[in-house]
Amino acid sequence: MILKAKLLKALILGAPASGKGTISSRIVKKYNIAHVSSGDKLREHIEHQTDLGKEVKKYLNEGKLVPDDLIIKFMITELKKVDNKPWLLDGFPRTVAQANALWKTQPVDVVLNLVVPFDVIIDRVKNRWVHLPSGRVYNIGFNTPKHPGKDDITNEDLVQRPDDRPEAVSQRLQIYDGITRPVIDFYKEKGILEEFEGRTSDEIWPKVVAYLDPIFSKK
Ligand code: AMP
Repeated sequence: MILKAKLLKALILGAPASGKGTISSRIVKKYNIAHVSSGDKLREHIEHQTDLGKEVKKYLNEGKLVPDDLIIKFMITELKKVDNKPWLLDGFPRTVAQANALWKTQPVDVVLNLVVPFDVIIDRVKNRWVHLPSGRVYNIGFNTPKHPGKDDITNEDLVQRPDDRPEAVSQRLQIYDGITRPVIDFYKEKGILEEFEGRTSDEIWPKVVAYLDPIFSKK
């Protein structure tokens, strides 16, 4: 398949805490493309208290999916705004109905799926401690706080988010897997799914670059 980098439409998939945020921001920076994140766009609407923001707030607060018809209409409109440049879509589609709707209006050229073993993700999140007032995040063994359990700047207590506990993370990963599997299969059947495996973002990143560089150098 010949991909036109000039208007490349890419989609990134990855489990929670798989490093999708890190890889996405490196992609948009290196290749200078638009980042269209459904979660970020919805949070902006909530922050600005728009009609849509008011409508979707409860779903985001409860960690539930926004209904398909609503998110489809919203994201198709958002994507039309960046029709004239290459983009990386993030967080949408999450269901096969969404994938179908997107395919009919803005068929993506490539889907990057980040594959990080679940035990690695659980381990990573288990070692994550936060300073709630500032949002500073520490990872034991990676950026360990200077004094155990204390914030480097204020020396206040660090806590673990309840949803970062191993049981909660494991449950989130199961839910993610159940929901995303059909979307992955949808793109596998189209023959456009590319998988990138690794235990860390630094391990995955060179593989993503090795894949995208030839596409973007054809500009
Ligand atoms: P995210 O930042 O991608 O984890 O999205 C945060 C929240 O926004 C999700 O928990 C959902 O409530 C909502 N959301 C984002 N993208 C979608 C989508 N494609 N379909 C339904 N709900 C979504």
